[in-house]
Amino acid sequence: MQHISFFDEVNKMFDRAAVHTGHAPGLLAQIRSCNSVYHVSFPLVRDNGEIDVIHAYRAEHSHHMQPTKGGIRYAPTVNADEVMALASLMSYKCAIVDVPYGGAKGGICIDRRQYSQPELERITRRYTFELAKKNFIGPGVDVPAPDYGTSATEMSWIFDTYQTLTDNPLDALAAVTGKPVGMGGVRGRVEATGRGVFFGIREACSIEEDMRALGLDPGVEGKSVIVQGLGNVGYHAAHFLEKAGAKIVGIGEYDGALYNPDGLCLEDVVSHRKETGATLNFPGAQNIENSKLILEMDCDILIPAALESQVRRDNADRIKSKIIAEAANGPLTFDADQMLAERGVVIIPDVYLNAGGVTVSYFEWLRNLSHVRHGRMSRRREAHNALKILETVQDLVDKRLSTATAKGLETTLAFGASEADLVDSGLEDTMVTAYHEIHAKARSHNLDLRTGAFISAIDKIAQGYLRMGIFP
Ligand code: NAD
Repeated sequence: MQHISFFDEVNKMFDRAAVHTGHAPGLLAQIRSCNSVYHVSFPLVRDNGEIDVIHAYRAEHSHHMQPTKGGIRYAPTVNADEVMALASLMSYKCAIVDVPYGGAKGGICIDRRQYSQPELERITRRYTFELAKKNFIGPGVDVPAPDYGTSATEMSWIFDTYQTLTDNPLDALAAVTGKPVGMGGVRGRVEATGRGVFFGIREACSIEEDMRALGLDPGVEGKSVIVQGLGNVGYHAAHFLEKAGAKIVGIGEYDGALYNPDGLCLEDVVSHRKETGATLNFPGAQNIENSKLILEMDCDILIPAALESQVRRDNADRIKSKIIAEAANGPLTFDADQMLAERGVVIIPDVYLNAGGVTVSYFEWLRNLSHVRHGRMSRRREAHNALKILETVQDLVDKRLSTATAKGLETTLAFGASEADLVDSGLEDTMVTAYHEIHAKARSHNLDLRTGAFISAIDKIAQGYLRMGIFP
């Protein structure tokens, strides 16, 4: 397969948008360049005594805002080009959703399925030590989070290692997000990216004119969906879409895919995979042994939620879905993106759509710096206010609710917003607001959503640089 530089692909998308912005060429070149990349290799003594050389990376793309922020990926695809591309997407993503960070990304070139838990812990702790030594981690410097192949467990090892090294223990919790809730994590982070993907798709589907142009009814309900990658992001996106009445007709995993035009029950597929250790042979579904072919099956919404460069020039023509929702980073190459956009496919771009993760990570970081659970000070007051309003309305209409109804309402109203409620509300508001911003940018230039999103990001980062006052 032809080698494609992921960073070049992102830059082509950047350049396509930049011509519509009118910023000085030098400023655009600075926004686009990746400021620093760190590559380290270190030995791992495996459980059987053999030695592996581990290659690990961290890229900080833009320092127009600090700290920089971005996930850490464990995958055999990881290299300098990949982390630079992903870090640049993080810069643009943070700008699009108004989260005050520069972009970063890290990764370790391993297939985590080949390593034991103790080996993964040793790799993660050594990586954290290397980052700390070179000042590539810290609450005001660079803040990692989970990405492909990592989860709250790795984040807790990172925190635990970092806190033994720092001379600022008070803020150490804010050096990494996506931690377990008992270790300073925020409620709602695990599902945040997938939930954000759901909010983005729901918003896109709510615009009647756009849906009619595709020959679809507005709304998520009844739409058929294929998800590639049933990991953190893919599973949660599918879960919230299914709950909202969408029909999951296809699921692709690395070992095979399932398709059933009548719908697959997500939880049953998850149980089947747990019980059998494989994706294929789910009752009632068609087996697709070459998993990648799931991308080409009939559906209204295709959600690539695994890795980059899945839809390329050679399979773009065979994609049948009318909407592509990029839950993964970079699932479409530049050529494929152009081909599909020309055919009128609506592409909800990664730089916007998977921003739910960093948005909720921002809420976690704020909680860690303030040392207060969100809602702790306001919850009781909100509850009292709600009860007072209920009393006042009853006085005004000179009517009392029946004791049973009043008791029921009081039970509901006697609790103000919890941390989970606030996080969800902040996430929804962020995704809805940003969708309409990028949609408006795209409309005003008569361009596709991705180019609209890039224009929005470039404008905001340019303003950030200009506010610093270091450029003429
Ligand atoms: P994950 O490791 O939780 O899940 C990825 C899933 O994809 C796994 O189940 C894996 O088996 C599957 N997979 C691997 N190769 C596949 C293939 N060829 N075909 C089908 N499935 C395959 O990772 P994740 O955190 O869900 O990340 C997925 C994507 O979303 C990545 O591109 C990541 O950068 C992006 N993303 C993640 C987050 C986050 O908060 N985790 C945030 C923003 C973007």
